[in-house]
Amino acid sequence: MSIEFNDVKQEEERIVTTTLSREDEGEVSLRPKKLCDYHGQVKAKENLSVFIEAAQKRCEPLDHVLLYGPPGLGKTTLAGIIANEMNVNVRITSGPAIEKPGDLAALLTNLAPNDILFIDEIHRLNKSVEEILYPAMEDYALDIIIGKGPAARSIRLDLPKFTLVGATTRAGQLTTPLRDRFGVILRLELYTPDELNTIVKRSAEILGIDIDEDGAYEIARRSRGTPRIANRILRRVRDFAEVRSNGTVSSSVADMALNSLEIDKLGLDATDRRMLHHIITTFGGGPVGLDTLAATIGEEAITLEDVVEPFLLQNGFLNRTPRGRCATQKAYEHLGLPYGGGQGGQMEF
Ligand code: ADP
Repeated sequence: MSIEFNDVKQEEERIVTTTLSREDEGEVSLRPKKLCDYHGQVKAKENLSVFIEAAQKRCEPLDHVLLYGPPGLGKTTLAGIIANEMNVNVRITSGPAIEKPGDLAALLTNLAPNDILFIDEIHRLNKSVEEILYPAMEDYALDIIIGKGPAARSIRLDLPKFTLVGATTRAGQLTTPLRDRFGVILRLELYTPDELNTIVKRSAEILGIDIDEDGAYEIARRSRGTPRIANRILRRVRDFAEVRSNGTVSSSVADMALNSLEIDKLGLDATDRRMLHHIITTFGGGPVGLDTLAATIGEEAITLEDVVEPFLLQNGFLNRTPRGRCATQKAYEHLGLPYGGGQGGQMEF
């Protein structure tokens, strides 16, 4: 099983980044292996368990599954769990890693019957690779062109029956022919603090971290609804507990650590606050286009859209309108800025 580590670029310094970084290499051991250890995502889990059981009863591979949602919510983990539950192998790769049709052909021909091929960031597959996937997904076949010009001929190679699990942060960017070939499409949601609380306690147990109930909840509440962030914060809080306290993660130690990491009481970090602050002070509360906003605060538009925004939208700090992003009254209040009511140029600063 190989895991590609993404380029962390500008997010490097951000503790709440949801991009898999070197620091998370140890997180592999925190990945639940069975569906019953995978907390939250009740709906997706319920559906999946039915589909898995049905496929097992029929002795067939599971239908192709598309998982979508913000990074760090457990898409890769779920692919591993599906493989475990189905008792098959999983091969992990990502859209940008498959450069040529031949790369994908090699992956597909090496699969054993019923195996799972997991393609992360599937929206980033290039067109020529994607076209190989269509017959592979639909007919378990590879169409290969041999030779060039008038002598070229196409031959069809049979593939073992397999399950493709695709993951994407942006389902909207998938082409329709690709999206239509997935029989199961599941959207993963940000986790509630209660769900994250359970995950934090489970991770603490695996890592041998002494944590009390309030300490776990403080981390859960301030982890942007994302298990990857919760696990990362847990490790940092442990450092504070060991160096500045008696080793136990209590709510006061967690609070001290989170404050030092500039994660505020509602779980917003410096980038979240900077984004809201700019919308309010530079753009009069909005609406402002994502690209303009990204250029102003020195982040990539994709990072803002995939990583920063989902949490701000879900928690009512931000509105998305056809004309751009607007800060809500809650955002003004949280930043301690006077709210003039309405949107768009309502305040003079
Ligand atoms: P994604 O593929 O969506 O970016 P991952 O599957 O890599 O996210 O999950 C990141 C980490 O979060 C995993 O290593 C795992 O430890 C943890 N995690 C994710 N979802 C869950 C869950 N439902 N229960 C427990 N831990 C989880």
